[in-house]
Amino acid sequence: MTERAEVYAPLRRGPVGTGGERLWPVATDHILDSLPFGICLISRIAKKSFRTVRTNAHFKTLLGPSDPCGLDPKDETFTPLSMDPAFLHAEEALSYGVQDEIRFTWKTDRGGSHKLYSCILQNFSYPSSNACLLLTIHDSTSELALQQQALRDALHDRLTQLPNQAMLLLRLGEWLTRRRPRQIPALIIINLNRFQAVNESLGYQNGDTLLCGVAARLKECLPADAVVARNGGDEFAAFLPNCEADDAQSVARHIHHQLTAPVTLDGYELHISASIGIACGSSRQIIPEDLLRDASIAMHRAKREGLGRTVVYHEDIRTRAKWRFKFEGDLRHALERNELFLHYQPIFSLTSGELVGFEALCRWQHPERGFVPPTEFISVAESCGLIIPLGRWALNTACAQLVEWSKRFPAAANLHVNVNVSGIQIGSDNMAEAVRQALHASQLDGHRLRLEITESALMTNAELAADLLLDLKSYGVGLALDDFGTGYSSLSYLSRFPIDTIKIDRSFINNLENNPDDYKIVHIITLLASTLGITAVAEGIETNDQLVRLKMLGCHYGQGYHFSRPLSVVDVETLLLNTPRTSSSVAAE
Ligand code: C2E
Ligand code: MG
Ligand code: MG
Repeated sequence: MTERAEVYAPLRRGPVGTGGERLWPVATDHILDSLPFGICLISRIAKKSFRTVRTNAHFKTLLGPSDPCGLDPKDETFTPLSMDPAFLHAEEALSYGVQDEIRFTWKTDRGGSHKLYSCILQNFSYPSSNACLLLTIHDSTSELALQQQALRDALHDRLTQLPNQAMLLLRLGEWLTRRRPRQIPALIIINLNRFQAVNESLGYQNGDTLLCGVAARLKECLPADAVVARNGGDEFAAFLPNCEADDAQSVARHIHHQLTAPVTLDGYELHISASIGIACGSSRQIIPEDLLRDASIAMHRAKREGLGRTVVYHEDIRTRAKWRFKFEGDLRHALERNELFLHYQPIFSLTSGELVGFEALCRWQHPERGFVPPTEFISVAESCGLIIPLGRWALNTACAQLVEWSKRFPAAANLHVNVNVSGIQIGSDNMAEAVRQALHASQLDGHRLRLEITESALMTNAELAADLLLDLKSYGVGLALDDFGTGYSSLSYLSRFPIDTIKIDRSFINNLENNPDDYKIVHIITLLASTLGITAVAEGIETNDQLVRLKMLGCHYGQGYHFSRPLSVVDVETLLLNTPRTSSSVAAE
């Protein structure tokens, strides 16, 4: 534009010292016609009425021979420039004499083709000419097309060509400003389950094909007025105008159903499923981003509930999600702030009555909530990955503690310590190294450490566990199967994995006196253990009667409130002071 304005400048003002009146003859038709943009000199006839005085060649190329200031009787689709509001505003502003030039754009339709022109309107004067305005004009239609394409790209997903999340929110926002009082929108978020496994096993290209297929299925099964979008990754969203929770739930059922049809990719038949979250607006003010957040919270809740679930958002979920968020944050700091500590529950030999070791159990003293039991925080630590540093800390602390006790108390010389291990830790690739480091740092003999793993943790990580357990065995570390009888109870793993101890779950011990079935189960477990050369430990012994029966059944070891609750470090030290040296500790010397 600057270049154009400079070329044109002599027309209006003339070079310094030459006098503008002598310029017109110099600026010949030839010069005007060689300019690469349109020029039009305009005169005012009356208010809002204009006449074209002269145009140059480029102008005619752009707009044809028609008079841009008057109506072209042959071309009804053409709105004359002089009637365009942008032109009229510019002309009016110039007439006040405050500005020299005004820039504006002129959009017009000619025979169905959209055109966009960039214009500069300037005051103009020349003696003996009644032209008072000079217009320069430049065709910006292709720039507009580029802008429009850029806008489309910014609001659509490249892969599926669906609107993206920004577009979805825009459409929702638009609809909300127009909606009638009782119209309620619903937002659905659809997140595919185990999509990453498709990418990893069949490659990204097949993953992309799957996403396009899902996009097509969603478009098919959603109502015509729904806006279907891809949020990114394996997540889609749909905005359903005027749709109550029940309708949205039936739409979700339909989506689940549509997605169950198998997809064949690279010769493999895949069965996909999704987790769906729904948020419905209320009759009060709705903010699009809030609706999206609520649907997303509901979707995450659905994901936690298992595959192929739908959850409709309600306020409780958010409160719970906020609580959990805070809880996770607090737990993250708990380790740094020394709010976690271990209690140790003594384990006794049921034959000799001697203390043989302890189970280390994690405790959390929360600054505001007070004591938090591990049943509450271990699962949270598992779901957010904190179990890895937490488990490592428990391992290091328990090993170091036992070594310290061994040095200070003769009764502790040959005791062992059991540390609980979560399935997530087994699944992490450096578990064996973490154990090796804990033993090395504390100088604890591997035979004095026993890891407690639940049946389910072992089975869900069977492949990794097999290698890990062999590594651990090579350090001499013992392996105990925790909560035995409550999980898969598939006996095959007793021979498959190098297990030394079975811990009979408390639920079978609870009612040993009154429930003949529990008695039989414990009997079989102790027999099984003896046959396989594995030791059996009964958990949760609370009464003398239970103890007597367990002894009769030949159970080797036991722990429970009957003997002792889990003890603080100080209480363990009092116990060790009052415990005579055990036969095993004497033997160890
Ligand atoms: P668990 O490993 O089966 O531990 C035994 C649980 O039974 C402990 O609960 C213990 O306090 C309780 N208990 C022991 N004797 C009795 C009894 O006679 N009666 C009753 N009613 N309960 C008894 P706690 O300390 O609440 O731990 C619960 C669970 O939390 C543990 O079950 C274990 O799975 C997990 N846990 C605790 N500390 C850790 C840890 O450091 N890492 C991991 N991964 N899990 C841990
Ligand atoms: Mg345990
Ligand atoms: Mg247990």
